[in-house]
Amino acid sequence: MSLVSSGLIRQKSYINGKWIGDDSHSLVTITNPANSEEITQVYQLGKNETQTAIEQASKALSPWKKLTASERASVLMQWYELIVKNTDELAELITLEQGKPLAESKGEITYAASFIRWYSEEAKRVYGEVITPHQSDKRLMVVKQPVGVTAAITPWNFPAAMITRKAAAALAAGCTMIVKPAPDTPLTALAMAELADRAGIPAGVFNVICGDAKQIGETLCDNPIVRKLSFTGSTPVGRLLMAQSAKTLKKLSLELGGNAPFIVFNDADIDAAVAGAILCKFRNAGQTCVCANRLYIQADVYDEFAQKLKLAVEKLNVGHGNVEGIDVGPLINSVAIDKVEKHIADALSFGGELLTGGTRQHGEQFEQGNFFEPTIIKNANNKMLIAHEETFGPVAPLFKFDTVEDVIKQANETEFGLAAYFFARDISTVWQVSEALEYGMVGVNTGIISTEVAPFGGVKSSGLGREGGHQGLSEYLETKYICMSI
Ligand code: ADP
Repeated sequence: MSLVSSGLIRQKSYINGKWIGDDSHSLVTITNPANSEEITQVYQLGKNETQTAIEQASKALSPWKKLTASERASVLMQWYELIVKNTDELAELITLEQGKPLAESKGEITYAASFIRWYSEEAKRVYGEVITPHQSDKRLMVVKQPVGVTAAITPWNFPAAMITRKAAAALAAGCTMIVKPAPDTPLTALAMAELADRAGIPAGVFNVICGDAKQIGETLCDNPIVRKLSFTGSTPVGRLLMAQSAKTLKKLSLELGGNAPFIVFNDADIDAAVAGAILCKFRNAGQTCVCANRLYIQADVYDEFAQKLKLAVEKLNVGHGNVEGIDVGPLINSVAIDKVEKHIADALSFGGELLTGGTRQHGEQFEQGNFFEPTIIKNANNKMLIAHEETFGPVAPLFKFDTVEDVIKQANETEFGLAAYFFARDISTVWQVSEALEYGMVGVNTGIISTEVAPFGGVKSSGLGREGGHQGLSEYLETKYICMSI
């Protein structure tokens, strides 16, 4: 089936099982980052519609949470099946509005769907406790209950997976949810809503609202009916949402920026480290919050690693994501290109040396898109912006280090603490470094760590809470203590 005939391209928001948007709303044009062409236009909703969505999600809560976990799982599995069945169309849509290569988009759909299956299964295994009482005439119990109406605000870099990672846990736990997707990638979110509708998820249980971020965000935060907000995005917006949520004391999950170190020790398998760096740095054109941002290479293997990485990077095919064999697609927009250019110019002004890349991709097919050459900078140092800020683009700066102590100190010298990676074979180095890195996630001898079965999340300014694993489900459950006199 083609994307057009699939009925998955939607322009209206999905609230309480209805498609909302008409001439009274403004329209925003969604463009393809590979060629700047219009894909379609999406109606922009605001405060009133958000209010309606909250009320409807609240009405839908009681019947939804009263279902057994198995009953909710049966509905969610329908959604899972439909997403899997429509993988090709959904992947095409992601590539169209976000730019990533089609193979990566398909991978994202598989990953996105995996959260639905996992939480459908996991919610059947939510256990309470019976506590040995402190008095002979008392019986003490702990039960777990759904948090209630919840909200999610999601980014553009994983337009499908960042929704299911939140919504699957929320819905499986018995919560209802309102999702506000990123303005650059609303179409994947609306397609997910279309499939939720076809799957028979009851009206009001899962809602997607597109429109003014500030208005929708404020309305969700101000309303006491919304008991939890889960956000993935930048640290400044995360801080703002946390402050806005203080009035109603909401539960929060915040998955914010990263500045991941990627460390290669002298005893590492250098070929494996290069392969890990390619995946970890250049996947999604370097636009993931767990992307390697600073590559620290121990002195003895610095030149070997740099040379091998250069060969591998120069083999990467940059181009339109819908063309077979493309490894790196366009960046999301021109602001992203500006940041990459700024980081490179700054690095060169502080003594950095371009090993490969360094400019926009030239050629007729790249002219209308946001393409940038995969880039390596040698002689990186701490004075550079790139050492302190997330680049969110295909630039690998190589720092040289001497000792384990030095590199741990440098790796931790950031306000962020999402993901860190290192390659080493000595078992004491492996333990010592795993424990010393102040990060929520550590990849050892691998550049890819995300999975639905493990807790994803950060420390410090990278946020609060975890998504994935059984920990991700507990974010949507309240603990209730019952004390009974007999
Ligand atoms: P990025 O810079 O990567 O786009 P943002 O943090 O700005 O990251 O965006 C992530 C999500 O947060 C998007 O859905 C965006 O629309 C939303 N967002 C941005 N500003 C606000 C705000 N003031 N209130 C609520 N949501 C916001």
